[in-house]
Amino acid sequence: MRCDVAIVGGGMVGASLACALAAGAQPWRVTLIESVALAPPGERALQPSFDARSTALATGSARLLAQLGLWESLRPLVEPIRSIHVSDRGRFGSVVMDAAQEGLEALGYVAENRHLGQVLLGGLRAASGMRVLAPARVRAIRPAAAGMTLEIDAEAGAARLAATLVVIADGARSALASGLGIASEQRDYGQTALIANVAHRAAHQGRAFERFTDDGPLAMLPLGASAEGLARSALVWVQDHAQAAAAMALDDEAFLARLQQRFGYRLGRLLRVGERQSYPLALVRASEQVRSGVVLAGNAAHALHPVAGQGFNLSLRDVAALAAVLEEARARGESIAEAAVLARFVARQAADQQRTIGFSDLLPRVFGSGVLPLAAARDLGLIGFELVPALRSLLVRHASGLGSGGSGAA
Ligand SMILES: Cc1cc2nc3c(=O)[nH]c(=O)nc-3n(C[C@H](O)[C@H](O)[C@H](O)COP(=O)(O)OP(=O)(O)OC[C@H]3O[C@@H](n4cnc5c(N)ncnc54)[C@H](O)[C@@H]3O)c2cc1C
Repeated sequence: MRCDVAIVGGGMVGASLACALAAGAQPWRVTLIESVALAPPGERALQPSFDARSTALATGSARLLAQLGLWESLRPLVEPIRSIHVSDRGRFGSVVMDAAQEGLEALGYVAENRHLGQVLLGGLRAASGMRVLAPARVRAIRPAAAGMTLEIDAEAGAARLAATLVVIADGARSALASGLGIASEQRDYGQTALIANVAHRAAHQGRAFERFTDDGPLAMLPLGASAEGLARSALVWVQDHAQAAAAMALDDEAFLARLQQRFGYRLGRLLRVGERQSYPLALVRASEQVRSGVVLAGNAAHALHPVAGQGFNLSLRDVAALAAVLEEARARGESIAEAAVLARFVARQAADQQRTIGFSDLLPRVFGSGVLPLAAARDLGLIGFELVPALRSLLVRHASGLGSGGSGAA
């Protein structure tokens, strides 16, 4: 077996890259290898990316998905974020960022990951020049005379694949990257994110809430109504590991009572909670993103704190930049395996990555801190944003991915 680009991992980022390569002027010969079987069309995707989480998509991401021909299918399934209310529990100061005031249709959109799975895997199936091996697991990647060789364990037995370029999108703490000797820097935040969909009495009217509490940040993102017509929001609740474990262990009634006490009544009475899942949080960054014949993408390259909803948004911009660089290399007659070609991708995304990772890392530390100067700065920051429209506009543009280099939402 031979291909131009082998993508390891069919999660949110690997599948997006496959769709981006298929949308190019001349499709590449792409093989995507995914260890979890692809669900039949119309059924729920089983890959871990497409679990019970929801993703805040920046408006810039909506534009990129439109370029991949995916937004038309996704748009009816997402909920627009019309405003974001940022507050600090027990302190002065709150900020409302409003799309209409900024002349925007929405500050971003909330997509349930299961819907993202349906649309991305649908795009994958429809893509020309695409071969999908699933369930199949890449055991090892080795440099070869012309490109790379992948050793694959599939249901039919072991196989080898020759690829000019391998994109490793196998998630955080990539075993394949470390097998190639690529180290990763990992900083544990000592926190766990607990997620669940929550039904509530009052309508959200497109408002997302980001509340910074002493325990950690808590976000409620607007979702479409439940089958019974109840208003719903997606909860992301960051706490230390012990508190999160205790909250996971509560029965639904006790959980809702505890959440109501932390979040308040901005969405009225909390009525029901869906499946809860938890994710221990760490900042993970690969020491190298490219090597001759190899690129790391998505969580394999950088996994971020979810407080600012930036991880997938950043990865999608990486994916678009990588697809563009590969296209340009082909037009110039260069090999897409060349380190110099791949270094252009790194250079193109360096400022965006640095800014976005820095912002995602700073936010939980400043807002999660009980240290007095930081707490004071935090209050001033929030009040300052409310008082100084220019500052607030800047934050809105950052949140909606319109600022220079763009970023995530909510
Ligand atoms: C609680 C939470 C909330 C979040 N909210 C947001 C948000 O609002 N906005 C946002 O932009 N981002 C958000 N993120 C970040 C976002 O979820 C990640 O950026 C995204 O999931 C990364 O996807 P990925 O494809 O890189 O990795 P993964 O989802 O880990 O996918 C990796 C895939 O590779 C496959 N695989 C692994 N090893 C192999 C192998 N050897 N061979 C073949 N296949 C393999 C796996 O089966 C899997 O399907 C959030 C994250 C969390 C934890």
